Amino acid sequence: MEDVKPRWPENNDQVPDESDAKPLCLSCLVPNELSAHFCAKCGAPLTSYAATGPFEHLFAEGHVYRQATERPRSFIVVFGIWLIFGTMALTAAALVFMSRENGVVSAAFGAFLLPVSLIIIWKTTRNYLARPRMDNTPD
Ligand SMILES: [Zn+2]
Repeated sequence: MEDVKPRWPENNDQVPDESDAKPLCLSCLVPNELSAHFCAKCGAPLTSYAATGPFEHLFAEGHVYRQATERPRSFIVVFGIWLIFGTMALTAAALVFMSRENGVVSAAFGAFLLPVSLIIIWKTTRNYLARPRMDNTPD
């Protein structure tokens, strides 16, 4: 009778144990703890809970806007920022200029929102125009 042996070693140290495996951040590739909902380095959401939790989704949304503002990769991102925050700036300007009808609280809210939205539009556009180009392919 032929002796049947497995062709692979029983104790292979080359293969990492599954309990050692750590999820990588899809945004910056840093390994994170299994229980983490957000990346410890860049703050990107790692789990579906991070995008749906009552407070956690605010951080997930903030990460998206931060990524879009700091590293806009394509023109459609810049267009989206112009659309979202351009509308916000127009609304804020309307609140400021119609303060006689709406009162001082909405005027103060508009006065806060107007520079914030204009700064986000300016930063995104500046970072898009100054982004490093890896190749000559049009986007
Ligand atoms: Zn990360």
